[in-house]
Amino acid sequence: MTDTIATLFIDGQWVPSSSGATRTVTCPADQSEVGVVSEATAEDVERAILAARRAFDEGLWADKPASERGDFLLRVADALQERKDEFARAEALDTGKRLVEAEGDMDDITSCFRYFGKIADQNPGRLVDAGDASVISRVVHEPIGVCGMITPWNFPLLQAAWKIAPALAAGNSFVIKPAELTPHTTILIMDVLDSLGLPAGVANLVLGDGGVVGAPLSSHPEIDLVSFTGGLVTGRKIAEAAAHGIKKVALELGGKNPNVVFADADYEAALDNALNAGFLDSGLVCSAGTRLIVHESIAERFVDELVARAEGIVMGGPLDPKAETGPLVSKEHRDKVTDYVERGVAAGARLRTGGHWGGPEHEQGFFYAPTVLDQCTADNPAVIEEGFGPVITVETFSTEQEAIAIANDTEYGLAGAVWTSDAGTAQRVSRRLRHGTIWINDYHPYLPQAEWGGYKMSGVGRELGPSGLEEYTETKHIYHNTEPAVSGWFPRKD
Ligand code: NAD
Repeated sequence: MTDTIATLFIDGQWVPSSSGATRTVTCPADQSEVGVVSEATAEDVERAILAARRAFDEGLWADKPASERGDFLLRVADALQERKDEFARAEALDTGKRLVEAEGDMDDITSCFRYFGKIADQNPGRLVDAGDASVISRVVHEPIGVCGMITPWNFPLLQAAWKIAPALAAGNSFVIKPAELTPHTTILIMDVLDSLGLPAGVANLVLGDGGVVGAPLSSHPEIDLVSFTGGLVTGRKIAEAAAHGIKKVALELGGKNPNVVFADADYEAALDNALNAGFLDSGLVCSAGTRLIVHESIAERFVDELVARAEGIVMGGPLDPKAETGPLVSKEHRDKVTDYVERGVAAGARLRTGGHWGGPEHEQGFFYAPTVLDQCTADNPAVIEEGFGPVITVETFSTEQEAIAIANDTEYGLAGAVWTSDAGTAQRVSRRLRHGTIWINDYHPYLPQAEWGGYKMSGVGRELGPSGLEEYTETKHIYHNTEPAVSGWFPRKD
C-alpha cells in the first residue's frame, strides 16, 4: 500500500486506478478526512476478475490441501488480533460507529476466520451405497470458482470476513468491492492476506462506485458466484444481472424485524433490550429490532419508559468515550431517514420522541435522534419499510395468534425476538415466525457456528455455519465402476 493513497489490489500487486481517479473518504461524525483511496475503472475490474480466474484455473489455492487452507485462515485470525487497534480505529472512523463497537466487530471477525479455518477440511463429502459392490459412488464438494463479493457500509469488517473466510476455506479465488463510503478495513484485510503469502490473483480488491465497479461482479461471464450484502433494491438488480448468466447468487438483504414482548416477559430485560434492538449503532443494523410489538396490557408503561430512556441516549463521535451511539453514515442517508419518519407521521403514527437531527453540538455530523413512533397501524409506511435508522415503531397485540400474525406481516424475514417467561410460548412462537434468526429473551447475539440469513425478501442462501461454507462450493457426484463391462443396450450387429 502507498502511504497516502490506498490503492486497488489486483493479481498480488497494490496498484492505482488505471484512470488515476481517487475518492476522499470522510468520517460521518464530523466530516473530517479519513483517507484517500483509488477509484477503480471498469477496466481495473476486468483485470481483477481475469486475475482471479487465472489463479483459480491454475489451482494456485484450490489445489492446496484443505487443512493447509484452514491453517492459513487461523494465521489470518492471529494477524487480525495483533492489529486489532489499527483495524478498529479505521472501522470506527469510516463508519462513525463507536470504537468499542468496532473492537467488538474485530473479535467477531477473528472468531469467523477461526471457525472457517477449523472446518476447512471437515467437508469431505460422503459415500453413497450404489447397491453394487464393484461401484464406488461418492459426493464431493469442490470450490465454485471465482466469487464476486459486494459489501455494505454498516458492517464493512464483518461482511467482508463472512464472505472471505468461507470462500478461502473452500478454495475459491475472489474479487471484493466494499461500499465506497467505508473501504479502509477491507483494504487492511487484503494487506493481511498479502503479508501472509496468499498466492497472487487469489484475492483481489476493487474500490469505487456500485454501478461501475460493483455491477460487473454480478454480470461478468468469468464470475461463478456473486455474494452480496446490502439493500433490497440493489440486491434485486444484482439477482437480475446474475440470472442472465445463470450464476449462483447469495443475497443478504434488509430486514423489518419484529421484537415481540409478551406480558409475562422479564420487564427490565425486555425494556433494556428493546433499546439495544432498535438503537444499537443508530439502528444501522440489518437485524435491528425496529418493530416493537408489545402486549396491550403492558404497552402504555413499556412505551413511556422506552421513550424516557431513548431521550437519555448520548450521541457522539467514534472516539468520544461518553457516546452511546453514533451518527448515520452520510447526509443522503440522514435525508432518507428524515423523510421516512415524516411519512410515518403523516400516515398517522404518533411521534413520541426524536424525529429530528442530533443536537447542535453535532452540526458537522449526520446524527439523528433516537425516535419512537407509536399508535402505528400495519399499513403505515414506517411499519412496512426498512427505515435503516434509529427509529422504533410500536404496535400492540392481545393474543398470541395476533402477535404472530403482526410479526409475520412483512415482506422481509431476517430476524426477530420473543420475550416471555413461558417456555411453551417461546418455543411455539419462535417456530411460527418466518424469519431466519429468532432470539428468545435476548437481542442481537449471533454465532459463527450458526447460519445467518433471511426468509422471503431478506435474501437467498446462508452465511456462517456449515451452510456458509457449502455456499462457496459446487457439489459433484463421482460414480466409479471398478469392473467395466459391456452394457448391452445397443448390442453389436456385426
Ligand atoms: P446498498 O445496496 O446501497 O449498497 C451495498 C453495496 O452494493 C455497496 O458496495 C454498493 O456500492 C454496491 N452497489 C450499489 N449499486 C450496485 C449495483 N448496481 N451493482 C453492484 N453493486 C452495487 O446497501 P447499503 O445502503 O450500503 O447497506 C444497507 C443495506 O444493507 C440495508 O438494507 C441493510 O439491511 C443491508 N444489510 C444486510 C445485512 C444482512 O446480513 N442481511 C447485513 C448488513 C446490511
